Amino acid sequence: MRAIVVGAGIGGLTATLSLRRAGHDVTVVEQTRRLTEIGAGIQLAPNATRVLRRLGLLDAVAAQATRPDHVTFRTWSDGSEICRYVIGRDAEEEFGAPYLQVHRADLQQALAAAVPPDALRLDTPVVGIDQDDKAARVTTASGEQLEADLVVAADGIRSPARQWLFGADDAVFSRTAAYRALLPAAEVADLDLPRYAGWLGPGGHVVHYWLRRGELLNVVAVFVTEHQAQESWTARAEPGEQLRTFAGWDPRLLTVLERAGQVLRYGIHTRAPLPRWHIGRVTLLGDSAHAMVPFQAQGAAQAVMDAAVLGDCLTDAGPDDVPDAVDRYVRRRIPAATAVQAGSARAGDDYHLPDGPEAEARDARMVELAAENRFGPHSAAWPMDVLSGP
Ligand SMILES: Cc1cc2nc3c(=O)[nH]c(=O)nc-3n(C[C@H](O)[C@H](O)[C@H](O)COP(=O)(O)OP(=O)(O)OC[C@H]3O[C@@H](n4cnc5c(N)ncnc54)[C@H](O)[C@@H]3O)c2cc1C
Repeated sequence: MRAIVVGAGIGGLTATLSLRRAGHDVTVVEQTRRLTEIGAGIQLAPNATRVLRRLGLLDAVAAQATRPDHVTFRTWSDGSEICRYVIGRDAEEEFGAPYLQVHRADLQQALAAAVPPDALRLDTPVVGIDQDDKAARVTTASGEQLEADLVVAADGIRSPARQWLFGADDAVFSRTAAYRALLPAAEVADLDLPRYAGWLGPGGHVVHYWLRRGELLNVVAVFVTEHQAQESWTARAEPGEQLRTFAGWDPRLLTVLERAGQVLRYGIHTRAPLPRWHIGRVTLLGDSAHAMVPFQAQGAAQAVMDAAVLGDCLTDAGPDDVPDAVDRYVRRRIPAATAVQAGSARAGDDYHLPDGPEAEARDARMVELAAENRFGPHSAAWPMDVLSGP
């Protein structure tokens, strides 16, 4: 079976490796000339790291990553602890794989290095996809036509393929944006920051954790806003804007945001859930299918799960089996990914409550949840039984 994957992001590269693992001939085509170091930290919950292990990449990724013991949730104004969830060794034993925090570029490089060079075509924008009963075809910007039995459109939140398959709908602004920054550890050493924390406050929340074995602090400061912000990994905020937005928050956080200097500003967008992801031999995967707000740190993990399940469904498939196998993939993945999308949106509503009875009730609920399930409610998105085999 021959497959073409469109897009060499985390979803597309993992799909390429999963389909190769299932014995197929796969080419991944990517519009950019180089896989560059954009983005910053990414958290990989056990559902994602288990897939990395079955692809033989867990050690390579873990070597660059940080492994936190727990996450604490804190009050915005003084950092007092609301609750903590276990994500270290006990979680690894429970879920069979570790929780890692990694630089996105390190992850993308580890995945790309496992794809044979002749199976990765950079500088190849795709401008069209079509199909008939026998095959699917991808047309590139240079006019070349590539034929395959399966086309996987892992072309991200702005997915042109989603439009070609299902018509016009666009990314939806979530009314939240995020300041993003990376700081060398030495610049924040005096602040005695908790190792991995989420600070919850009126109209915003701030998450920070360490990357590259503690060399870099990754900060994501999310705020509610009516001003449409660009969905871009490189757009810059106005100088000092982050300090005005988070005025009144714990002085340690403000010091971090001040020392960060020029921060990036990312408008958080989503895609509406779709009732179907595929037509015949062409399917969506990852953000093109289910871009979500990142408040459960599950967007990439869900793309990785898509890739693993797609590989499972196509094991032993021949060219004629592709439409049915893809149908099995979407039936397994649509309910799961749609539930995580909705859960992530609910988490944002909860995190951003104004001070008052509702926020107090939320804090009490979080304490209760931590007592019931020490791994926290997000662990509901880490089910281990959806993959075939180890
Ligand atoms: C602030 C923030 C924090 C996040 N944190 C986390 C986290 O901690 N954990 C987590 O799991 N997720 C997180 N996410 C979500 C995660 O970043 C995304 O869900 C994930 O990167 C999506 O991967 P993808 O491969 O589907 O798409 P992308 O990474 O967008 O890749 C799409 C690729 O397709 C290529 N492409 C597009 N169009 C074409 C074309 N026509 N031809 C050829 N190539 C094309 C693009 O160049 C790109 O390389 C976060 C997101 C944000 C915004």
